[in-house]
Amino acid sequence: MSLKKLTIIYSISLALCIVMVLLGYRQLVEIPKLKQAISLFQQRELSTLNLALQRERDFLATLNYDYAVWDASYQYIQKQDSEFIKENFIDDTFVSLKIDGAFYMDPKLNVVWQKGYDSSKKQSIDFDLLSLLSSNDLQNIYPIEEDRRGVAHNTGFIRTQHGAVMFSATQLRKSDTSGENVGILVFFKKIRPSLVASLVKFTQLKLELSQIETPEKYRAIPELKGQLQGDPFGFTRQRVLVDLNKQPLLLLNITHLTSEPPPLVDSKLFLILILIMIIPLGMHYFVTAYLVNPVNAGVNQMALMLKKKRLKPLVEDVKIKELRILTYGFNELIVTINRQKDELEKLSLNDSLTGVANRRAFDQALRKSWARSQRSNSAIAIILLDIDYFKNYNDTLGHLAGDKALKQVANALNSRLRRVDDLIARYGGEEFVAILTNTDKDKVTEMMEQLIACIRELKLPNPGSEVSQYLTISTGAAICDDFSLALVDNSANFLLQQADEALYLAKSQGRNTGVLFNS
Ligand code: GH3
Ligand code: MG
Ligand code: MG
Repeated sequence: MSLKKLTIIYSISLALCIVMVLLGYRQLVEIPKLKQAISLFQQRELSTLNLALQRERDFLATLNYDYAVWDASYQYIQKQDSEFIKENFIDDTFVSLKIDGAFYMDPKLNVVWQKGYDSSKKQSIDFDLLSLLSSNDLQNIYPIEEDRRGVAHNTGFIRTQHGAVMFSATQLRKSDTSGENVGILVFFKKIRPSLVASLVKFTQLKLELSQIETPEKYRAIPELKGQLQGDPFGFTRQRVLVDLNKQPLLLLNITHLTSEPPPLVDSKLFLILILIMIIPLGMHYFVTAYLVNPVNAGVNQMALMLKKKRLKPLVEDVKIKELRILTYGFNELIVTINRQKDELEKLSLNDSLTGVANRRAFDQALRKSWARSQRSNSAIAIILLDIDYFKNYNDTLGHLAGDKALKQVANALNSRLRRVDDLIARYGGEEFVAILTNTDKDKVTEMMEQLIACIRELKLPNPGSEVSQYLTISTGAAICDDFSLALVDNSANFLLQQADEALYLAKSQGRNTGVLFNS
């Protein structure tokens, strides 16, 4: 796997991690919290709705109380004076009180007086209490529980042939709440859209109120006063209002104000996610710029080095400390290797005793110089140099002295050949060889004489020499100044051979002399 792929996988994993953490937090912490808050709010909305309904019932109860706890009403039930009814329960009374039915009943549940009048349509309606309600219902309407003023009253809902009604029943009392149990006054108020409108106004909720015709089907729906009761989280819910016999009578479809359950990813979270994605993207950019790219550049450089088989230092301009150390270390290693390589090369090309170039170096130099001379069509010459009677030198002065003399001879020859392209090498034993380029016969002859002279001038005594009291050399040279005649492959060797022949001649001519091969 490449570093680049690894970085991509790392960045994607990081991005996924961030998304998972955020979504996990949203799903496990935030949404439950929000749902709880919404549930609490909805609970309050239901409480408010219940209160609003209670308010409507209280309002009817207050009216009912005002008429029931009243000396005139108290007297009416006992004397049944029709004047009282004529004065106090005219049609307009129903309209202004917004009630649709009024009933006086004695404690034996006999209806003393009753009247139905639709306050909205302003027309009489038939509210015959006895045919409307069973004796059980009548009993249920009859208030028993007394309030703190000592007056019993009762409110609730009843199913009638004219639809569901809200009722309020209050015990008849004198205006100062004293008196016997002489009967009750009951007010009916039809359930109309105006009730829903009033509830909506009070609660701000969206409401639908409908009458239940088949109570059995709605038994599972909770009553409004029970509020949330662990309902599942929802935007809308149903509640029922029960009648006197605890049978579902009215169905409330409630739409809460609070929004729907929050989605896992809303626009805000989406924006946050997008913004957070900048983190892995940025990291990817930095890792790529500071790590992947420099490493890849280094790897490419190394691949090139391996291909070309040449070690070169890597670019050290990297920002990451460890990479910089690694690059620096690698470069130091290369410097060391190159230095060692140079030294090895030098060692392999230099003669260990005399320090001048060895036979190997000579062979390489001859090849190059030959090619160069051939290209430029300039003359190249070889001079072979051999110490005279060196065996005798060793024999008389010892091998160590022989070595020393070899070094001196090599230095002397070397210092004579100063031109960059000229070379002096130890050819083997007490023989040396020189390469001269861009030369001619005269220069070669002159050089031979100079070299012979320079050794003679060293004045190294050679008691074993038969030609001089000092150490001398003989030289044989050959020159190639016409490459058209030269054999392509073997020409340099051929030149060497000619020089060897010339040297042989010099030796045979008595040594301490030089001969230029005459072709
Ligand atoms: P000539 O004049 O014919 O060249 O006689 P020569 O004695 O120089 O030639 P020969 O080939 O008979 O002897 C070469 C000698 O060079 C033999 C060997 O002991 C000596 N020699 C070769 N290499 C070394 C070396 O590295 N050190 C020393 N001290 N002597 C060496
Ligand atoms: Mg020799
Ligand atoms: Mg010799």
